This record gives sequence, structure tokens and C-alpha cells, in this order.
Amino acid sequence: MAADTNAPVADPRAVPAGSAETNSYQAVTRFFDRAADHIGLGSEMREILRSSYRELTVQVPVRMDDGRLEVFTGYRVQHNAARGPYKGGIRYHPDADIDEVRALAALMTWKTALMDVPFGGAKGGVQCDAASMSESERQRLTRRFTNTISYVLGVNRDIPAPDVNTDALTMAWMFDAYSARYGYTPAIVTGKPVELGGAPGRDAATGRGVVYCLEDVARDYGLELAGATVAVQGFGNVGSWVARLAPELGCRVVAVSDVRGGVADPEGLDVEALLAYAQEQGSVVAAPGTRPVTNEELLELEVDVLVPAALDRVIHADNASRVKARFVVEAANHPVTPAADDILHAGGIVVVPDILVNGGGVTVSYFEWVMNIQQFRWDEEQVNSELRKRMAAAWAEVKARADADDIPLRLAAFAIAIERVERAVDLRGYAA
Ligand code: NAD
Repeated sequence: MAADTNAPVADPRAVPAGSAETNSYQAVTRFFDRAADHIGLGSEMREILRSSYRELTVQVPVRMDDGRLEVFTGYRVQHNAARGPYKGGIRYHPDADIDEVRALAALMTWKTALMDVPFGGAKGGVQCDAASMSESERQRLTRRFTNTISYVLGVNRDIPAPDVNTDALTMAWMFDAYSARYGYTPAIVTGKPVELGGAPGRDAATGRGVVYCLEDVARDYGLELAGATVAVQGFGNVGSWVARLAPELGCRVVAVSDVRGGVADPEGLDVEALLAYAQEQGSVVAAPGTRPVTNEELLELEVDVLVPAALDRVIHADNASRVKARFVVEAANHPVTPAADDILHAGGIVVVPDILVNGGGVTVSYFEWVMNIQQFRWDEEQVNSELRKRMAAAWAEVKARADADDIPLRLAAFAIAIERVERAVDLRGYAA
């Protein structure tokens, strides 16, 4: 579970009132439209791919520890399943509204297509402040939510996974709640504990994939990784693994942050010591031997590589021109708004897009699903080496397309993904 606490924090995603960037779904649709224009996608196909197939909004009543009943709102949005069952994480966050979940569901369609795993795209969320809830409250919430959405789930229909403020234990509860109704079904969720059929290495997989991707990007753009400086926003599942693994490439992690704030050390942070500190204190803030840095400052540090690994839309029209990193490697989903993307690009900053960078998570989820269906397990070495190959293949395709069409990496990634989904939709006769 992430190191969130209940402490009030400024919303780093704040954008000016009335800004055209306020809605996640509109922003992700803008990325889609740009790529659709680039590949000349027809208007009928555009209409199918622009909106979700199914959007479920549910009431999730939970008896809290103090006896009160709280009624939460939950969502499961299924965007497209032309290439395989719907796939996507479940997020617990106060801002997880229908627009955010819808945007993230669409991104999953493009991500699974780009990574070439046989899944479609979905996302789920419950609007709640998970950090302020006890473990038993979170468990009751998870079981109730799972039961309520269970009729749209299925091993060959829709397979959830962890996301912000959900983890392997949350998946264990989902698996158990689903199995209680439908019989033993480990393949109904991925990101489970290894003891329940989780893939060895799934916990680290998204962060590991980010670091594999960084290695490929650095090679092709001539960035010397030995001594390269890296700042990571978010020290949860994804960010903490990026911070742990980047030093294996010779990088120096000079700043990390979580919801409460950040810490920096230009000489390089001791990431393992920070992890132990954060586990004990609930945050990296004020870790010994570090200097404080705010989340806003972290994004503007003079580093070689900036890795946003927390929430969406943290780099927007108002702060993009202050980003000084040479590379923005999008470990989080949708951390850069379309307006910010243009500003970064104009400033010569290379933005490596989310649907590629964090695709290692869903790739290893795919391995887990296959293992569960076959009732067979790979070891971690095999998981990591298959992940390495798939990250390299996806990067090679994106880079080749960007070079061939002389377009930014995001546009190339979306173009490849949309073409794959378009082909599947066509072949299946959705538009017949
Ligand atoms: P997590 O809950 O484990 O960690 C989130 C981290 O972000 C925590 O350190 C938290 O304190 C920090 N954070 C939260 N709000 C913040 C704020 N307002 N400002 C700064 N930091 C804040 O979540 P995660 O699973 O690591 O997911 C992080 C991102 O990666 C999300 O965008 C998620 O969609 C994406 N992602 C996750 C996976 C996965 O496998 N978990 C896969 C693909 C993409």
C-alpha cells in the first residue's frame, strides 16, 4: 500500500478554472484525435473508438468501524475488447470520477494494443480516501464492490488489477469474493500475491518495465546513464521500484516524493534507506540526510530524467515551461496534458509516453493470467526476461514509427495502437 496519510495536501494537478484541460477524458481524447488524424481514421471507426463500450456506476455501501454506513460510488468502465477481454486496474481515490476512469479505460485499450497483449481496455475506481480507512473497512469495500460489478467481470470478459491505493492484498480479496460466487477463479484478477497464483515479479513489473524502457531510450538518444540524474514523483508501487532499479543502470536518484512532499539529495539518495523510513513513517518526508523538496519543485528540477509516477495531469500548461529535464518518462498514466505535451516538445524535451513506459504492468499481468489459466507457474527470471523482450520490441516499434513519420513518440505509440484496434474491430465486424 502506498505511503499516503491523511495529511491535507495541495492538489498538484490544479489547473486554472475554466481551462480546457480540466477533464481527463477530453485530454486523452485529444491524444486519440491527433493520432486518428495522423493515420486518417474514418469517421465511423472514430466514433466507435472514441467512446466506451460500457460504463457501470454502482453504489458501494460499507459499514465503517464506528458503526456508520458510508455509501461510496464505484465505476467499472469497459472501453474496447476487440483484441481480447477488458483489462485494467482498480483505483481507490477521492478524484476517481467517471471522467478519470473513462480516460484511463481508453488508455488501457491503447496500451494493451501497443504492448501487443491479447486484451482490451477497462478501468475501475471507487471514490474514497483509502488512506483514512482501516484495513477491514477497505476489505469490506473491496468485497462489496467486487460483488456489485461481478456480472461484468470474467476470465474471458474483464480482468481487474491493482492501481493507485490498491495492491496485491486488494486483489486477494477480489479473487476471494469472486470465487465465493463463481468457484475458484484465480485468473479473474492479476497482481495477486504469489501464494495465490500471482506472477513472481508482478509487484515490481511496472517499475521494472519503466527502467527497461529508460535503458532503451537512453541508448537510442545517446544519454549516458552512468551518473544520469533522475527525479521520481510518487513513491508507491511504481515509483519506488523505479527508484530502486534505476541505480542498477548507474543512475543517481536525486529526488523522490509522495503525497505529503519530497526529499532530495544532489549526491544521490539512499533509496533502500528511504524505503525503510517510508514504511515506518508513512512518508519519505524528513528522511534523515535529505533536504525537503515540494512536489511542484521536484517536477522543475534540473535533472536528466523526470519520472512522474503518481497521478495524472501533474504537468500542465502552467508548469510545463518550467520543466528542465531532458527526458520525461511517463510512469504514471496521463501525467502530461496535451497543452503541456506541446510545450515540452517545443522545448526539445523528449516525452516517452505512458502507454509504452508503464506497459510492463499489464504485460506481466498477461503472463499471470496465462499461468493461472494453464495452472502453471514461471519463475521470476523467466517473467523478467520475457518482460525485457516485450518492452524492447514495443520501444523499437514506437521509435521506428516516430522516425519514419517524423512525429513525436506519443503520436507514434497511439498510431500503432489505434491501427491494431481498428484492424481487430474491422475483422470482427463490429462496424458491419
Ligand atoms: P500507489 O498508490 O502505489 O502509489 C502512488 C504514489 O503517488 C504514492 O507514493 C502516493 O503518496 C503518491 N501520490 C498520491 N497523490 C499524490 C499527489 N497528489 N502528489 C504527489 N504524489 C502523490 O500507485 P501506483 O500503483 O504506484 O500507481 C502510480 C501511477 O502509475 C498511476 O498513474 C497508475 O495509474 C500508474 N500505473 C500503475 C500500474 C501498477 O501496476 N500499479 C501500472 C501501470 C500504471
